[in-house]
Amino acid sequence: MKRIILSICLFLGVHATVAAADRDDERMRAFVMGLPKAELHLHMEGTMEPELFLAIARRNGIDVPYDSPEAVKDRLRAAHDLPSFIEIYEELISVVEQPEDIRDITLAYYRKAYSQGVRHAEMYFDPQLHLERGMTLEMVFDGLAAGRAAAMQEMDITIGFIMAFLRDRPAADAMAVLEAAEPWHGQLLGVGLDNPEVEDFHLKFEPVFKRAASYGLRLTSHCDVQQEHTIKHHWGVIEVLGVERIDHGLNVIDDPELLKEVKARGIGLTGVPSLFYRDMPGRMEYRAGAVKALLDAGAEMSIHSDDPGMKRGLYIGDLMLRAREAAGMTREDMITLSKNSFRTAWISEDARARYLRMIDDYVAAFDEAHPEMVSVP
Ligand SMILES: [Zn+2]
Repeated sequence: MKRIILSICLFLGVHATVAAADRDDERMRAFVMGLPKAELHLHMEGTMEPELFLAIARRNGIDVPYDSPEAVKDRLRAAHDLPSFIEIYEELISVVEQPEDIRDITLAYYRKAYSQGVRHAEMYFDPQLHLERGMTLEMVFDGLAAGRAAAMQEMDITIGFIMAFLRDRPAADAMAVLEAAEPWHGQLLGVGLDNPEVEDFHLKFEPVFKRAASYGLRLTSHCDVQQEHTIKHHWGVIEVLGVERIDHGLNVIDDPELLKEVKARGIGLTGVPSLFYRDMPGRMEYRAGAVKALLDAGAEMSIHSDDPGMKRGLYIGDLMLRAREAAGMTREDMITLSKNSFRTAWISEDARARYLRMIDDYVAAFDEAHPEMVSVP
């Protein structure tokens, strides 16, 4: 009898521990999702979910070789590195033809992001991809403006845009787009560089960035993860292009001098511990580990979603939680990541102070409602 009672007690004890752990996980999830955040690194085109891709193709009368969201995801499963991903990305975005397509893509993104705590978003878009297919700049800007207006009416969110140039296309094309977009410069926060990382791209785009800076536009650039010549490129975007942020920037951790410079200049690093549809063991662990190491080193590191619609539908809060688990980050790390996103956002000092206060208030209110969570690392 004694043994039976002991077994029951053990069973109940284990059960209680598992239940407590589940409850802690659930509350941590709620905590991270609710943390106010700024999304600083995402591409309008990459926010398009497979379902919306199919709906837009249908409404524009475009035949696509996919009959279900699953078939689109299968296509996305072919992506295993930056060039293969960009190839599919450019294929999928080719169904976008009208301003309302851009409006719908962005509004769907804002709703999702808002539900995960995003209160300010700085959204990249690639005008060259759309101009190549016959859209005009006016149509692109109209679509972006319509999405922003609808979102700001519906939610308590602020939104800005970053015009990206494609690194693997001629710099003259970028310069032409920069000049042609002059009527809309007032709608832009800044410009950036994306697409496959070609060698010495910083030298190629120096005149374009100088011109953009002369128009009062802010500057950022991708330095993707584990690319060739990555340390040289990081130095190049800092010293030649004069960027204020580096998108990804995780390899800064590999060079102590570079890390020192990034910290001294207060350059924001917009890391992305994302997952492709294809299983790639170690990818999340590597990226999350670099995020954690840079955070511990005192860099202005934050986490962002990049192309959530085309990378397993994982948005900013999802990625913070995955990275937390993969790299053993603490609750305090989650708070610092969120604060860093506002510290390096292109917003007024008043807005920055307001958002940072919003985070402190949120944490205080959460802890008051869940005192047991304060001790969870
Ligand atoms: Zn990106």
